[in-house]
Amino acid sequence: MSTHGFGKQLVALGCGPKTVALAVKRHVLRQMGFSLPRLIVIEKQEVGAHWKGDDGFTDGRQLLGTSPEKDLGFPYQTDLGSPEFNEKVAAAMLGFSWSSFLIQTGRMAQWVDQGQKAPPHSLWQAYLSWAFSRVKESVDFRLGTVTSLSLRGSFWQVKYESDEGTSQIRADGVFLSGVGDSHLEGRECSSRVHTDRSYWSRQNREQLKEQLKGSMSRVAVIGAGESAGTVVADLLSRYPGVHVDWICEAGLVHSRGESPFENRMYTDPENSGWHELSLAQKREFIERTDRGVVSPAVLAQISSFGRVNVVRGRAGCIRTGAENVTISLETNGGKRELVTESVVVASGRNLKRFVWRLFDEQTKHQFLNSCKEDSYPPFEHMIGRDLSVSGLEAKLYLPGLASLNQGPGFANLSCLGSLSDRVCLPEVLHRSETKSLVTRKFASRHKAGSRASHLRQVPLSHSNAGV
Ligand SMILES: Cc1cc2nc3c(=O)[nH]c(=O)nc-3n(C[C@H](O)[C@H](O)[C@H](O)COP(=O)(O)OP(=O)(O)OC[C@H]3O[C@@H](n4cnc5c(N)ncnc54)[C@H](O)[C@@H]3O)c2cc1C
Repeated sequence: MSTHGFGKQLVALGCGPKTVALAVKRHVLRQMGFSLPRLIVIEKQEVGAHWKGDDGFTDGRQLLGTSPEKDLGFPYQTDLGSPEFNEKVAAAMLGFSWSSFLIQTGRMAQWVDQGQKAPPHSLWQAYLSWAFSRVKESVDFRLGTVTSLSLRGSFWQVKYESDEGTSQIRADGVFLSGVGDSHLEGRECSSRVHTDRSYWSRQNREQLKEQLKGSMSRVAVIGAGESAGTVVADLLSRYPGVHVDWICEAGLVHSRGESPFENRMYTDPENSGWHELSLAQKREFIERTDRGVVSPAVLAQISSFGRVNVVRGRAGCIRTGAENVTISLETNGGKRELVTESVVVASGRNLKRFVWRLFDEQTKHQFLNSCKEDSYPPFEHMIGRDLSVSGLEAKLYLPGLASLNQGPGFANLSCLGSLSDRVCLPEVLHRSETKSLVTRKFASRHKAGSRASHLRQVPLSHSNAGV
């Protein structure tokens, strides 16, 4: 096993849109003379892998739900305390915008002339890859799969596997992105049972084509959110003979709330009153706009086919036979079974479970002792203003779990520019060489966790972490 890395460094797991946004913002701030810890990115496939269509949650042809103008710099509101600096950051970030990408790759005129339609996921991946290639000199990019995270007081040990074997990095902070584990993670999928990920693989599409060539083929899709909706739409459009049983717990499909009022909460939670909402109101908002809802565009596509049947029930055990699959369903009225030819489990991913799976036993114990929980710690209640877990000496940034405490847009693509500001600015503003640029009032606003003072603090400092 090789061990690298000393001094201040931040390790990012995965190179999706959040990490690219972080890398770009750090590059821009560095160019302006600010100093920031070294960024090491460990990615198991390639930049934006989940969007390209080779091995992710899409075939690449599906359309981006969010406007592409919600790009890596959006909403271009970096607040460094000086209008002059703020403008400089916004101007530099525009060089990495969706528009700049279109201009530099000769696509701008066509995009505008065709009505600025939602781009396919593969084009979004090309944008991410283009932006990252322009800052890669200032990033240490490594191909590898992170296999474990160990908290050791003031630092993390990050272990990863690559072609060179197992390596370990000592990091002052870890930035974790991604969508998390499926319910089926670690279990064998068969040619008739798929996840929202395996469904899109090329090999799988070939198998399904063979299975579903009959005119009365049936597939069940489990889940009530965007991933399930996208699979339903794709099944109906790709296989003309197929009928879909869409299994949703309540037997209802909800459309996503996308009004200007709702959108504003995603873009600018602080000035839209997110912190004034009660926990129940926050959950209700997220349920209307993000979790278990399907975008109106995907619903319109699905309803135009009319070969779909919404089934009420909570899916339990799935039994696979040679010719079919049996799914146990629990409803208010009792239990029943649904027999179908194939099933796609798209009932949501769990980022908490993913984080937990990466922790070593010692780290798990530290969290459980401090949180007095007997399952996963309530990470989503522990996220501070800088999007890291409050109370940890070695930072653990979890933007994907920051919705409840910090705003619904940090978990997705809604405000990537603010996301990177939240992570980078506390680092920048608390360095002695930059303190003179900002007023005391301003610096305290950006103090990590200042918004989280009402949260349950987790005393995981070096002294009581037992290491
Ligand atoms: C079909 C679909 C459509 C969606 N459309 C939208 C949309 O329009 N707008 C929106 O806001 N959100 C959308 N989402 C949600 C979306 O997934 C997230 O908003 C977004 O991907 C999060 O970006 P990210 O940078 O956190 O992670 P990802 O894009 O998921 O990137 C994570 C990266 O980590 C890498 N990785 C994973 N595990 C490891 C490991 N152990 N070691 C090293 N690398 C690893 C992966 O290869 C990947 O490149 C959609 C999701 C799906 C499934």
